[in-house]
Order: sequence, then structure tokens, then C-alpha cells
Amino acid sequence: MSRQILLISGPSGSGKSSLLSKLFAEFKDKLYFSISSTTRAARQGEKDGVNYHFISQEQFQADIKAGLFLEWANVHGNLYGTSLRPVTHALNEGKVVVFDIDVQGYFLAKKQYPKEITAVFISTKNSSILASRLENRGSESNESIKTRLENAKNEMKYIKDYDHIIVNDDLEAAYESLRAIFISMHSKCANFEIEEFCQNWNN
Ligand code: ADP
Ligand code: 5GP
Repeated sequence: MSRQILLISGPSGSGKSSLLSKLFAEFKDKLYFSISSTTRAARQGEKDGVNYHFISQEQFQADIKAGLFLEWANVHGNLYGTSLRPVTHALNEGKVVVFDIDVQGYFLAKKQYPKEITAVFISTKNSSILASRLENRGSESNESIKTRLENAKNEMKYIKDYDHIIVNDDLEAAYESLRAIFISMHSKCANFEIEEFCQNWNN
């Protein structure tokens, strides 16, 4: 059974959650969202165990020590980490596992899953659109928006290390691109049992 990970990164406010919620609405049964743990406070409307596992600094440090994370990183001053066990379980079940993680997390995850990951970078058309989307979302303080915009400049430097880029201008068009990437993952040679296929083909 092929083991596949769809990994999404991009500046905060670029539209990762909006695009992923469309993908989950259409392909819920084929996907598993890797719920990260974080030390940041929940935003209004976010639910513990759904968007994130919201945990304390102490718990996060204990989980690091216990080796529970596949990767973890400090992003915008908070800790975020991907739990290893549910990811392994979902991969074994044949689900496409979805990671919404930052650039640092991508490089760490790629070391462990070099063949499995299809990496997609989501961007806005320019930085002022990013700023206005973060402001309109209304979820961050001015200081947090400033940090996120500063970090965005650095994150953009790593686009070339991803397999795909989606410029999220029109949401529907951006979703069509993500949908096409997801569908094409099923025919990736890296995840295809080529030897077995060729053996059967010859018989
Ligand atoms: P991220 O998950 O990357 O932080 P969100 O999905 O929360 O980003 O999107 C940030 C804000 O921008 C949200 O308020 C969302 O509704 C809005 N948004 C997302 N995509 C678009 C788009 N293509 N056009 C206009 N607004 C958008
Ligand atoms: P937010 O606070 O806006 O939900 O997320 C901030 C950033 O943290 C985003 O870039 C998001 O992709 C990243 N992030 C979320 N979960 C993880 C994780 O488990 N690991 C890493 N490395 N980054 C994460």
C-alpha cells in the first residue's frame, strides 16, 4: 500500500487552512489531518483536539523528552510539533496524511519521509495582500501580525525546495491547483510498487 504525505507550508495568512478545509470537504475519507501540538493559545473558534492539541510549555518539553514528536519547531515564538504515532497509524491505514507545518518542520520531516512527501508552498500574490488578510482575519494582535509578516519574508526564501507552489489569489482557482496535486499524488512513481507491477506484467 502506498504511503503518502501531503505537506503544506506557507506564511501565516496565505490560506493554508482555507484550502485544506476545501480538500477535506471533498476527500474526507481518503485523508488524515495530522493534528499538531502547540503552546500557543487557541484562537476564537479553534477547538482542542481538532485544530491543535493546545498544551503547556511543560507538557511540550515532556513530550520532546519522551520522543513523541516526529518533528517540532519554534514558530513565531511558540512551539509546534507533529506527533509520530498517529501519523504512522494513518499511513499504515493507507490514508494520505496531511501536514500543515512550517519550513523548518518540512526539512526535518523530509529527512524521515523523503519518498512519501509531496510538498506544496502556499503564497499570496504579494506581501501587502498577506498583511491585509492577516488584519481582516482578526485573530492576531498587531504585534503578532508584525512577527508573522517579518517571518514570511524568510519563509519565502525556501519556495524552491518545495515540489509545487500555489499562489492563492482567487480561492477557487487555488483550490483547483491543490486538488490536481492531490489527485496526481496517486500516480507518483516513487510510491508505486513498480517491481511487483512489472513482475505481474511479465507473467
Ligand atoms: P493560514 O491558514 O495560511 O494562516 P487562512 O486560511 O486562515 O490562512 O487565511 C487567512 C485569511 O485570508 C482568512 O481570513 C481567510 O478567510 C482569507 N482568505 C484565504 N484565502 C483567500 C483568498 N483567496 N481570497 C481572499 N481571502 C482569503
Ligand atoms: P498558526 O499559529 O497560524 O496556526 O501556525 C503558525 C505556523 O506554525 C504555520 O506556519 C504552521 O504551518 C506552523 N505549524 C503548525 N503546526 C506545526 C507543526 O507541528 N510543526 C511545525 N514545524 N510547524 C507547525
